[in-house]
Amino acid sequence: MSDENHFSVRLMRHLVVPTFVLDAAGNVIIWNKACERLTGVKAEEVIGGANHWKAFYNEPRDCLADIVVDGSASDIDSLYTIHSTPGEQQYGLNAENWCSMPCADKQLYLAIDAGPVFNEAGDLIAVVETLRDITEQKLAQEALQTLADKDGLTGLANRRTFDERLKADWSLAQRTETDISLLFIDIDHFKQFNDTYGHQAGDDCLKLVAETLANQSLRPSDLPARYGGEEFAIILPGVDAKGAGLVAERVRKAIYDLSYPHSSNSAADCVTISIGVSSFIPEKEQQASCLIEAADQVLYQAKEKGRNRVLKAQHVA
Ligand code: GH3
Ligand code: MG
Ligand code: MG
Repeated sequence: MSDENHFSVRLMRHLVVPTFVLDAAGNVIIWNKACERLTGVKAEEVIGGANHWKAFYNEPRDCLADIVVDGSASDIDSLYTIHSTPGEQQYGLNAENWCSMPCADKQLYLAIDAGPVFNEAGDLIAVVETLRDITEQKLAQEALQTLADKDGLTGLANRRTFDERLKADWSLAQRTETDISLLFIDIDHFKQFNDTYGHQAGDDCLKLVAETLANQSLRPSDLPARYGGEEFAIILPGVDAKGAGLVAERVRKAIYDLSYPHSSNSAADCVTISIGVSSFIPEKEQQASCLIEAADQVLYQAKEKGRNRVLKAQHVA
């Protein structure tokens, strides 16, 4: 090896950026010290083979450098949640991913770059993969996202998330001419509950109601949300009036069955809810607000009729 080559390898070995290099056959030729520190895997364990995935994942899969070696950029979508748009392979790829890091015993969120190296003839001779641990930034970003999306008291989706989802789900139902239903839920005589037991007890009750709503084995596409105050809503995409009525009755009963004391409730001696249900197959020009207005109207009637009950909007399309 020439002095110059020797120096380059030494430089790469001690570079503070975690880096490994594959040859054109996909075997590891360099695994630097920073990469050893990051992964807990020693160079001698991986050099000469193609087992570098073991440093990052529990199951065999391609790393970003393998994708560049194989020229299989179309695989990137299935392997990485966030990644660059594969364009000209010669400029390399970048991606971000949660990695299980089996030998480091800690999950890390890594920012990854993989760049190809060509010889004078234009043949691929190596691929350099560099890694950056951005776990802290990712966790901070996720925490911020949670703050923005969730209601602080109950942990349910907040009003902003509800509005966004309703708009999206309504548009989808409109395009596909499918059902969409909404449950509008309001705690009965909650002002008296606060007056009787105090505001803190009121907050505890709101948390319990929210938890119970969320535990009603809803589908992943359903969205329970805190609409405001002591009002909740559940969006049920793809569910017709009959199905929505069944879910609403299940939810009403689940709250009643909690037998959570509420002595000043005219409907029962425990906490109860009233539910307005509306269901639509949206017509072309209809706005999502129709769904809310219809559910709100029948909720009002459910209150009038004595509370602790479900009422469905009689909508004729
Ligand atoms: P109805 O059966 O007609 O719904 O009667 P209600 O008393 O529940 O209705 P109203 O709208 O008059 O009162 C709602 C009460 O909910 C008033 C307010 O003090 C209480 N509330 C709203 N948000 C919160 C909250 O975050 N915490 C607590 N503890 N109470 C809240
Ligand atoms: Mg209310
Ligand atoms: Mg109320």
